[in-house]
Amino acid sequence: MQSIRKKLSIIIIFCSVIAVILLAFLVNLTVNRTFNNYVIDTQNQRNSRIVDYFQQIYKKDKKWTINSGKEIMHEAYMSNYCLTLLDTNKNVIWGMNPDDIKENSHMMMQRVYNNPGVYKSKLFEIKYNKKIVGYVLIGQYFPILLTQQDINFKTAINRSILISIVIAIVIAVIISIIISKQFSDPIKSVSNTSVRLSNGDYDSKSSIKSNIKELDNLTRSINILGKKLKEQDQIRKRLVSDISHEIRTPLNILQNNLEAMIDGIFPVNGERLNYLNDEVIRFGKLLNNLNVLKQFEDEKLNLNMKKLFLDKLVLSVSNKFSIDFKNKNIKFDLNIEEGKNFEIMGDEDKLKQVFINLLTNSIKFTEPGGAVCIYLNADKNRVIVKVKDNGIGIKKEDLPYIFERLYRGDRSRHETEGSGIGLTIVKKILALHSAVIDVESVYGMGTSFILYFNRYKENM
Ligand code: ADP
Repeated sequence: MQSIRKKLSIIIIFCSVIAVILLAFLVNLTVNRTFNNYVIDTQNQRNSRIVDYFQQIYKKDKKWTINSGKEIMHEAYMSNYCLTLLDTNKNVIWGMNPDDIKENSHMMMQRVYNNPGVYKSKLFEIKYNKKIVGYVLIGQYFPILLTQQDINFKTAINRSILISIVIAIVIAVIISIIISKQFSDPIKSVSNTSVRLSNGDYDSKSSIKSNIKELDNLTRSINILGKKLKEQDQIRKRLVSDISHEIRTPLNILQNNLEAMIDGIFPVNGERLNYLNDEVIRFGKLLNNLNVLKQFEDEKLNLNMKKLFLDKLVLSVSNKFSIDFKNKNIKFDLNIEEGKNFEIMGDEDKLKQVFINLLTNSIKFTEPGGAVCIYLNADKNRVIVKVKDNGIGIKKEDLPYIFERLYRGDRSRHETEGSGIGLTIVKKILALHSAVIDVESVYGMGTSFILYFNRYKENM
C-alpha cells in the first residue's frame, strides 16, 4: 500500500509531465510548421529571383552563351541547390552536377530530418517580350533546403523547449511535494489520532492546523469525537460504580441483618422483618428504574398526541405537589402570563411526567425555607416554561451530564435518594415533542430549567 503523500505526488508529477510534454509537442509542431512555410516562401522567392536574373541576362545579350549567368553558380553551390540552363529546345547550355551538392545536402538532411532526402528539380520558363527564350532547371534535395542559420535557429528552439520541459518538471516535483504535504499531514495526524482513540487513549488529540476547510473540519471532528468518547467513558465508569453501589448497599444491609438474626444477635420480629422488606423494596425500585429507562430508550415509544393547554396541565401537576411543598416548608408560586395562548400538541400523560420529574427535583434539592416558582409565557411561535428554584444548585462540571442516563450530581449521590433517570426521561419526552430543554444553575444559589414548546397552529 502507498501513503497518501506518495500517491498524491505521483499523480501531480504524472499530470504535470503529460501536460508539459503535450505542450512542448504542440509548440514544436507549430514552430516547425510556421518555420517550414517561411522556408518554402523563401525558396519560391529565390526561384523567381533566379528566373528574373536569367531574364535580365538574356535582355542584355539577346542570346545564350556557354557562360550566360554562370556567376550565380557560386551562390548555388554555397546554398546547396543545382542550376541547369536550357535553350528553347531544352538543350543544355550549361549545368551543374547534382553530385557536387550531394554530400553537403545529405549531411544537412540527415541532421534535420534523419534521412538523406531525395533530389528533385523543377523547370522554370525564361521569357523575353512574352516569348519563351529558354529554361532554367532548379534542383535540390527535399523535403526542404535549410541554410546554416535556419538549422541553428531550429536547434535553438528545440533546445529551449527541452530546457523548459526540464524546468517545468522540476517545478512540478517541488510543488507536488509541498501540496501533497499540505494534504497528507492533517490526514496522517487524524488517522494516528483515530488509531490511538480506538486503542482507548481518549486524551489523544490532533493539533495540526490546515487551511483546507474540509481537512480542518476533519481534524476538529476527530477532536470532538475524542472528547465525546472520553465523556461517555467517564459516564460508563460512573454508571457501573453507581449501580454496583446501589445494589451493594441494600444487599449488605440484608446480609448483615440476616446473619445477625441467624446468629441470634438480632431478634426475628416484625419490626426487623419490615426493615429488611424496605431494603428489598428499595432494591426492586432500582431494577424498576432501569426498566423504565429501557422503556423510554425504546425509539418506538407510542405517544397519544392531542391539543392541550400547557397552563392547565402545569396547574394540575403543581396542585398535586402542594402538600409536599407545605411539608418541606417551601414557598411555591405559579406565574402565568395573562392573555396568552398556551395551546400545544402533546401527550398529556408524558408531559405530566416531565413536570412531575422537574418539581420532584426542585423539592428534593431545595432546603426548607426555600422557594420554587414556575413561569409560563408565550411568544409568536413558542410556549416557554421556566421551573426555578433557589436550592443547592448544580456544579459547573456536573451541568453537561445531568441529562445522561443514571447520572447524579456529587451531592445528590451522597445526600439524597434518587435514580439519576428523571432528567433523562424528561429530555427524551421533550425530544419526542420537538421541544427543547435548557438549564441554568449557580452552585449554592439555585437552578432553572427552561422548556421551549412549539405553539399549536391550525395548519400544523
Ligand atoms: P436524580 O434526581 O434521581 O438523581 P435526575 O436525572 O432527576 O436524577 O437528576 C440528575 C442530577 O441532576 C441530580 O442527581 C442532581 O445532581 C441534578 N439536579 C437535577 N435537578 C436539580 C435541581 N433542581 N437542583 C439541583 N440539582 C439538580
